[in-house]
Amino acid sequence: MTTCCEHIHINSVAHADPSRTAGIRARFIADVNRRFQRLINDIKESIIDNDCFGIQVQFRAHAALPHQAFVFEQDTQRLALFMEWLQEQESNGILYLISGKDSWANMYIDSAYQRGLRNADSWLKRTKAGGSVTAKFPSGVRQVVQMPIHAARVSTIYSRIYDELKTVTNVMNAEIRTKLAEALREGLARGFAEGKNPLAIARELNADISDRIEKIGIARARTIARTEVMNAHNTAVDGEYAIAEQIIGEPIMVDILLGGNPCPICIDLEAGGPYDRAAAIGQLPAHPNCVCVHIPVIENSKGEK
Ligand SMILES: [Zn+2]
Ligand SMILES: [Zn+2]
Repeated sequence: MTTCCEHIHINSVAHADPSRTAGIRARFIADVNRRFQRLINDIKESIIDNDCFGIQVQFRAHAALPHQAFVFEQDTQRLALFMEWLQEQESNGILYLISGKDSWANMYIDSAYQRGLRNADSWLKRTKAGGSVTAKFPSGVRQVVQMPIHAARVSTIYSRIYDELKTVTNVMNAEIRTKLAEALREGLARGFAEGKNPLAIARELNADISDRIEKIGIARARTIARTEVMNAHNTAVDGEYAIAEQIIGEPIMVDILLGGNPCPICIDLEAGGPYDRAAAIGQLPAHPNCVCVHIPVIENSKGEK
């Protein structure tokens, strides 16, 4: 679809990355990987190298002594201490937050937001607005981000990411706690009864925990990174469109500019457009990994719809 009688669709060609945020997403994801990998390494060092649960010591003890009730108490304590340590590592490495603003994740959101402001400016150039307010600020997008409309939007995204990462670590920790509790309660004794090597048992336990971190922590945090970069970009764009509407005194209609290999959800959304700008808030990203964007409808020379 290139044109229709009412307006020109400049979304006739799907771009692989219409928001041009692929680099920001990749850097954010690499940071997520590094942070969770550090956690995996620290856990391995604790369980295997430092034998923090005394698996190897405990096995020697089991060999000499019958199983006694106090061992269970000790394990419960060890589990509690380990979980406390784990949460501290997560606070420092993943949730790291100073005065509610300065999380490591925020810089990716800032970049994505600024990219959105620049994109909105270039997309608005072909409309009656003739560009965005961004262009009117001598120090550019950095100054624009300080505007109340944008500042409020950015800080909403900051705190949402913190909450989302907090939820991810909570879910992950609950599974790790279950695995550990089971291992300390029954797994070690069973391994001992089966004549397994204590080091092999420690490695198995460590592998179980790493698996939870990869499948829950890393997988979900990557999705958060991708989705929130697009959210930040799209929120910035919408903010600029909203300001442009006030300047030109009429609503802006938006079309969906599809990303590369669009899925049926996004193709349907695009076909259903154009949309009233205000009504399209929250429409994109349409799903995790959606890279589509909203671009203003360009009226042709006949003007009115
Ligand atoms: Zn899609
Ligand atoms: Zn999409």
